[in-house]
Amino acid sequence: MFDTINNYKKYCNSLTKYSRYKTREVLIGDIPLGGDNPIRIQSMTTTDTMDTKATVEQTIRMVEAGCEYVRITAPSKLEAQNLENIKNELRGKGYKVPLIADIHFTPNAAEIAARIVDKVRINPGNYADRKKFQTIEYTSESYESELKRIREKFTPLVKICKEYGTAMRIGTNHGSLSDRIMSRYGDTPLGMVESALEFVRICEDLKYYDIVLSMKSSNPQVMVQAYRLLIQKMEEEGMNYPLHLGVTEAGGGEDGRIKSAVGIGCLLEDGIGDTVRVSLTEDPEYEAPIAIYLADRYKNREKHSSIEPADEIPFNPFEYQRRHTFELSGIGGHNVPRVVADYSKRIIQNPADLSDIGYFYNEATDKWNMNDSAPDILYLGKNDLPFAIPNGLQALYDYDYWLTLKNKENGNPLYSIDDYLTVKVATAGLNFISINIHCLKDEFLKKVEHDRTAILVLETDNLHGMAEQRRVFIKLIENKIKNPVIIKRRYDNLNLDQLRLFPATDFGSLLIDGFGDGVWIDYKNNLIDEEFNPNPETNVLVKRFVNIKESTEKIINRILFGILQAARVRISKTEYIACPSCGRTLFDLQITTNMIRKRTEHLKGVKIAIMGCIVNGPGEMADADYGYVGSGVGKITLYRGKDIVRRNIPSVKAVDSLIDIIKEDNNWAEPN
Ligand code: SF4
Repeated sequence: MFDTINNYKKYCNSLTKYSRYKTREVLIGDIPLGGDNPIRIQSMTTTDTMDTKATVEQTIRMVEAGCEYVRITAPSKLEAQNLENIKNELRGKGYKVPLIADIHFTPNAAEIAARIVDKVRINPGNYADRKKFQTIEYTSESYESELKRIREKFTPLVKICKEYGTAMRIGTNHGSLSDRIMSRYGDTPLGMVESALEFVRICEDLKYYDIVLSMKSSNPQVMVQAYRLLIQKMEEEGMNYPLHLGVTEAGGGEDGRIKSAVGIGCLLEDGIGDTVRVSLTEDPEYEAPIAIYLADRYKNREKHSSIEPADEIPFNPFEYQRRHTFELSGIGGHNVPRVVADYSKRIIQNPADLSDIGYFYNEATDKWNMNDSAPDILYLGKNDLPFAIPNGLQALYDYDYWLTLKNKENGNPLYSIDDYLTVKVATAGLNFISINIHCLKDEFLKKVEHDRTAILVLETDNLHGMAEQRRVFIKLIENKIKNPVIIKRRYDNLNLDQLRLFPATDFGSLLIDGFGDGVWIDYKNNLIDEEFNPNPETNVLVKRFVNIKESTEKIINRILFGILQAARVRISKTEYIACPSCGRTLFDLQITTNMIRKRTEHLKGVKIAIMGCIVNGPGEMADADYGYVGSGVGKITLYRGKDIVRRNIPSVKAVDSLIDIIKEDNNWAEPN
């Protein structure tokens, strides 16, 4: 039943002791990647590559914000040639940042760019293939002849890269796998891995090894599984290429940051990844500080307190499967993970205090309304609730305070481990027990195994906290303990971006592997009120004071629902898959995304892709229900799934038309 350690060892060094997964060093310009080098930060310009001045200025802003490599799109030979001017301008101004050309569909542009820049990125899904969304039956012979055709198209580029010392990223995107790969492997992590390895094998045959690999998806679960599988396959074939991490089309703002952190952070926690690109629908200089926050958490991670090694892992790291638990009052079992709102540091005076977390009291009708992001458990610590709790919400008190309540059935106790082991007064309802890894002794395990009222609240103080909590889950499974577990993490002294990123990493990593029946953030102090803004004189990003108007409880509640959505374990809102934009983009992605969001953000569970161009957009929309794609200047083409339903309509009418299509499908609801 259990998988042996040898099987998971191939995707990271250890599940309990932090260390970087060692890859070979690849030199990109003057800056080496992989090996023992730090995790590098990079991003991509969004300017028109033919606009040398704008591209140079944006590149400089990105470098000043922390980018160590800068990628620029080269959609045709003209743009590829103009990379020379961009490079010369930058070098003339003293910027030596290595440049990377981004190629889709155009081998001739790649062959020009490879003579100019330090690295070329190719997409194996479209370098030698045009996507027609066809399923083709291949025999072994016809598949081999396809590989031969790819080899002929790809070999000239490899030879140029070898001659000029240019590195190459073979970057698979989940949304743009070739029809050939889709026909043989389907839309799977294995298909993503094979898509890249077909090209790597050609490089190796030609004795070219300056390769970097990536496995991006807009679905963090798929992305994580693909990178893990890639490492396992590389180990099998004796390869050790550096890994570029990214979640594609993550969107912008808070959701984009959370989604990126769930995917990228999950891999970084296991020591995987040599360079990070956070992909947001915002100006690219905003991406670097986010990537730096993510990567910097691992600078001293080796110093964490030791965690008992795991000899076997009772879960499959390549496929999502929820840990089996029994259900207690809607917690655990097949229920979506529950959200705890921590009001232990805020005195609740009247019902309006709960409106921050989505509970709205109507005095006239004496009824509560709740929205889709209303939490399930309200932790009050030692505070009273001066009114009846809304239906659907469970109150949770510290055990000693709960003992003083007149109506104990109005709330549930939270025990320390000592109280739980010695307690005389327990409720027949729910008993929450605060535990950490040190509590997993025989006495506790024996008692809890038969306790059908016990919900565990799992905490950690370990610097490598996710790994310690994962170790607890492994031990619970080994001991056949099926009590639901709420994951709790404590944070202190973070700014708003860090509060979005760190819990998304810590909780997301566990949720992606099916662990956790609830999530709880305990935030100690006020949020640090700073964020990155451009200096109006230099346009360079600097940290500035920001006035946070929302309560910490409101922000944390929204972040927790965002994490559950990004990990795809609890859907509470519309999902936007927005491309980060680049030199091909045909409309202002930020403005358009906000416009679409305003009209559709109440459509829970509907996935809408907003893509800047029709060349790559449709291929990258992954599993979106609807697509809004730029198909010319002022022209939009609308998709239902992968099918075009309105072609080249004027952009001023496009959002209304999109809503009409959603209505035709009965997926529309009027906003409240
Ligand atoms: S989909 Fe967006 S990021 Fe991708 S090539 Fe088109 S405009 Fe650029």
